[in-house]
Amino acid sequence: MYDCIIVGAGPAGGTAAYHLAKRGRSVLILEKDSLPRYKPCGGGVSPQVAEWFDFDFSPAISLKANTLRFTWKMGDPVESKLDDIEPIWMVRRDVFDHFLVQQAQKQGAELRDSTEVSGIEFKVDHWQVNTASGPVAGRYLIAADGAKGPNGQMVRL
Ligand SMILES: Cc1cc2nc3c(=O)[nH]c(=O)nc-3n(C[C@H](O)[C@H](O)[C@H](O)COP(=O)(O)OP(=O)(O)OC[C@H]3O[C@@H](n4cnc5c(N)ncnc54)[C@H](O)[C@@H]3O)c2cc1C
Repeated sequence: MYDCIIVGAGPAGGTAAYHLAKRGRSVLILEKDSLPRYKPCGGGVSPQVAEWFDFDFSPAISLKANTLRFTWKMGDPVESKLDDIEPIWMVRRDVFDHFLVQQAQKQGAELRDSTEVSGIEFKVDHWQVNTASGPVAGRYLIAADGAKGPNGQMVRL
C-alpha cells in the first residue's frame, strides 16, 4: 500500500512525486511510456519554476533565451528583449521531464514506466489502480496524466 500513486510522469506528476517523497511519503509513479519519452512542446519554461524546488535545474536546460522573436508566417518579425527579467529557459521535454522524475526518485519515489493505467476503483479506504501488470493500491491518487489522459474522467465515474 503506497501513500500516494501518481499517474503520469510529466511535470505535474514529477513535481508531486518530488515534494511528497521529500516529506517521507511512499510514492509510486505510473507512466505509460518508457522514460525518457518524447513530448511535442515549444519548450519554453518560466525561470520562476526554480522557486518551487531546492535543486539546480541546469542539467535539464538546453539554453536560456533573452530575446523573443514573433513572426507571421515566418515573416514580419518583431523582436522583444527581456532586459529586466530573467531569461526564459528552453528545454527538451524528454530531458526536462525525466530529470524531474529522477530528482523524485532520489527522494525515494518509485517509478514504473511502460505501465499504462487502464482503470481506477475506490475500495472503501484506498484506491486500486489497474495496470496490465496487475493492480496496485494507494491511500491517495493523483491523476497527472495530462490533458488527453483518461484518469480525470475515470475519477469522476
Ligand atoms: C504543441 C505544444 C506546445 C507547448 N509548448 C509549451 C511551452 O513552450 N511551454 C510550456 O510551459 N508549456 C507548453 N505546452 C503545454 C505543456 O506541454 C503542458 O502544460 C504540460 O505538458 C502539462 O504537464 P502535465 O504533467 O500535466 O501533463 P503531460 O506533460 O501531458 O504528462 C502526462 C503524462 O501522463 C502519461 N499518461 C497519460 N495517460 C496515461 C495512462 N493511462 N497511464 C499512465 N500514464 C499516462 C503521458 O504519457 C505523459 O507522460 C505545449 C503543449 C503543446 C501541445
